[in-house]
Amino acid sequence: MNEIDYLYQDKLNEECGVFGVINVHNSQEVMYYGLHSLQHRGQEGCGIVSTDGKKFFQVKGEGLVTEVFNEYNLKELQCEAAIGHVRYSTSGGGGIENVQPFLFRHTTGDFALCHNGNLVNSKELRRELEIHGSIFQSTSDSEIFAHLLKKDTQKDRQQAIKDALNQIEGAFAFLALDNEKLYIMRDKNSLRPLSLAKLNGGYVVSSETCAFEVVGATFIRDIYPGEILTIDKFGKMISDRYAEKTYDNLCAMEYIYFSRPDSDLEGKNVHASRKEAGKILAREAPVEADVVVWVPDSSTSASIGFAEESKIPSEMGLIKNKYVGRTFIQPSQAMREKGVKMKLSAIPSIVSGKRVVVIDDSLVRGTTSKKIVKLLRDAGALEVHMRIASPPITHPCVYGVDTSTYDELLAAKYSVEEIRKIIDADSLAYLSEAGILKACGRKKMCLSCFNGKYPTYLYHAIKDINKDGKF
Ligand code: AMP
Ligand code: SF4
Repeated sequence: MNEIDYLYQDKLNEECGVFGVINVHNSQEVMYYGLHSLQHRGQEGCGIVSTDGKKFFQVKGEGLVTEVFNEYNLKELQCEAAIGHVRYSTSGGGGIENVQPFLFRHTTGDFALCHNGNLVNSKELRRELEIHGSIFQSTSDSEIFAHLLKKDTQKDRQQAIKDALNQIEGAFAFLALDNEKLYIMRDKNSLRPLSLAKLNGGYVVSSETCAFEVVGATFIRDIYPGEILTIDKFGKMISDRYAEKTYDNLCAMEYIYFSRPDSDLEGKNVHASRKEAGKILAREAPVEADVVVWVPDSSTSASIGFAEESKIPSEMGLIKNKYVGRTFIQPSQAMREKGVKMKLSAIPSIVSGKRVVVIDDSLVRGTTSKKIVKLLRDAGALEVHMRIASPPITHPCVYGVDTSTYDELLAAKYSVEEIRKIIDADSLAYLSEAGILKACGRKKMCLSCFNGKYPTYLYHAIKDINKDGKF
């Protein structure tokens, strides 16, 4: 494996979703519905590890929640506490060995771990741990964290967790489960979302609040940046911090693309922020047109806002085949392009002879926009104006969101006018950085993929970004 492959291998921990339950009778059922409502965060694999307070049970597999779990294997997970994971990965990231949660057997007590996010110093830590005798089974950051936890078995568990968290850098929402406690941990930059709710005398924790509604839980609060929240089997809860300095750097792409519209991220509803982004976009980049069309489903909210503000009627000019997975799930560019064709069709009776404004939430490689402009023109649109409800993506994400590498990012290489020509639109405009902050009702958040101002030191990740000589 060469250096680049190795770095790529290390970068397996893409978006993903985590969900946990403690002190709820038949937790396995809550887990099933919780993970199902986080399915949009990852469709490649999923798993649950549960405990009855003595033994651990696990079911993991590749595929969707409905494919991996059934009433028989859920019965085997019968428990009062559990953690689970849905997994997303890019090319090379597949394989059952990377499906979480991981169950670690140890003389000091078994424990399970899963996480969402990406560590930027995983390569350095792995190398260091291997030099001192650790052997890894997977390429996951969770395994690195587990080895750090167990480096000094004399330490009390809380202190071991703190010390381990202080060695890792990057974006993470970790859940750990031993036979007595659930540990909930969020990075000091709060890059990945993580929230807490109560349910039937117990607690649930989830990457997104949409899962609470589904399982009938009541939202309590978001996990604080740098927090270690421990809940034991008697319901006692202790909040501790591993870092003194914490930052409000929640990922902007969670608002823009990744989270479900019915989730609230740090108090702001995702649909509402996307709608507001559409309104601001209509003010920042107005256009004379006959119809506003959305790209199903991720830009629906933004186009409602754009249409409302611009007073241009919005219509369903594009239709999506629901039975094709998300475009990005296809591993190669050729497959991705095929995926877009299979996924979307334009409706001629709506767009023919019209000046169309099409709203998308983001433009990454331009694959989708290019296809959409062509689809609309083939269906008879007179003009096609593309409006993107986020700023140009000029830098790759090192925190676990698959926004691609410099090489593939159109806005890293071309001006807006050059991109307009590439996608063959009559006009193209993006939302400003100030616009996205305003839409999300925030003063601060991670906008690194739009401006290159990464909130952490980058360690090996900078080499990955640097590989085509930029940065
Ligand atoms: P592209 O076709 O490469 O320009 O990607 C843009 C399209 O992919 C948009 O329609 C987005 O809704 C979607 N998208 C943006 N970011 C991601 C991501 N990290 N993973 C999967 N899809 C994405
Ligand atoms: Fe999110 Fe972009 Fe920051 Fe990555 S770089 S965490 S995608 S805002």
